[in-house]
Amino acid sequence: MARIVMKFGGTSMAGMERIRNVAARVKHVVEQGNEVAVVVSAMAGETDRLVGFCREASALYDPAEYDVVVAAGEQVTSGLLAMTLKAMGVDARSWLGWQLPIRTIEAHAKARVESMETGPLLAGMAAGQVAVIPGFQGQMADGRVSTLGRGGSDTSAVAVAAAIKADRCDIYTDVDGVYTTDPRIVARARKLNMVTYEEMLELASVGAKVLQTRSVGLAMKENVRVQVLSSFDDPTQDDLPGTLIVSEEEIEESDMERQLITGIAHDKNEAKIIVTRVPDKPGAVANIFGPLAEASINVDMIIQNDSKDTDETDVTFTVPRADLVRSVDLLESLKEKIGFRRIITDVEVAKISVVGVGMRSHAGVAATMFRTLADRGINIEAISTSEIKVSVLIDEDETELAVRVLHTAYGLDADAPAA
Ligand code: ASP
Ligand code: MG
Repeated sequence: MARIVMKFGGTSMAGMERIRNVAARVKHVVEQGNEVAVVVSAMAGETDRLVGFCREASALYDPAEYDVVVAAGEQVTSGLLAMTLKAMGVDARSWLGWQLPIRTIEAHAKARVESMETGPLLAGMAAGQVAVIPGFQGQMADGRVSTLGRGGSDTSAVAVAAAIKADRCDIYTDVDGVYTTDPRIVARARKLNMVTYEEMLELASVGAKVLQTRSVGLAMKENVRVQVLSSFDDPTQDDLPGTLIVSEEEIEESDMERQLITGIAHDKNEAKIIVTRVPDKPGAVANIFGPLAEASINVDMIIQNDSKDTDETDVTFTVPRADLVRSVDLLESLKEKIGFRRIITDVEVAKISVVGVGMRSHAGVAATMFRTLADRGINIEAISTSEIKVSVLIDEDETELAVRVLHTAYGLDADAPAA
């Protein structure tokens, strides 16, 4: 017997037929003798619809009331799933965020879970009653409803799993796991059996959007074992093959034959900025990045090419595309203080990253990347590295080619194309 949290996303909850399928899956896991809590999303598209009503009601809507409205989507699906389970002969009840309660910080529309009451919930589960919990919602200290930010029900599920010390948090979604790269680009991408929290964070933040990034960070902090599974497989099938997201220690014990590189990610959400002819003296770079930080603009890759012949330097870096205009305006307003010649921008860039905890103990990963790209005539415009990741910035048009050749170069291609 195990204690399992099962989480179902919006696509899995979209309509009664799918909810019945979810209930059949839950029933199957209960009948195997497990204690089960289920966390659900609103039906696909429902949260967008509710957000639309808020905007229509008032351009400057009250965030407290926004939370009341958008939390309703999950209230509906949790009640419907509990009802459906009961009709199938499985004891179940819903527990709304304020009923448990799930306590969050004071921040409407972007709350974080602080703590959770679990006594009555665990008592019900021990007596064989499935607990159905709406994701995304919680309660603030002043008693009002809060929500966790878009995509937040993944985080709800991980928070519940941590609070009840679940053996596993199974996240059912519309993909059947985490792949070595985007299967739409590389037909021979492979599904990973296991991936570490850190690798998942890197893969998620650079574009492999399977889970809300925050939920992975929370799982890492609380050491919750997360499994990503497809909700469209046969609900009565045992041992669905998904991807387990676990600690590095757990992977080392079970998978000695791991590849050096776990995956290749791509991200087209950054823009490049070059600030030319900045004086090469102490404080010059601080004058650029200090104000950007104060404006909450996240700078990612940075290179400074200092000239040996002049006392000036060009500074190149990337920011989220959405912040490009704001960044340029801000720097232009500081032109005198920073003392640059001009600003050049480029949005037609892509960041390609190779990710793997294996590179901690192996040299040559970056060299392989640079050589592989050079052989295809792909120019590298910026580089950044972390302990488990090497990223390069290239021309956006070369994204697909770069991902494909790197996937092959690191030996990640499956023997047969993915179905
Ligand atoms: N329904 C919420 C949203 O769409 C939360 C979630 O599904 O994760 O953002
Ligand atoms: Mg989601």
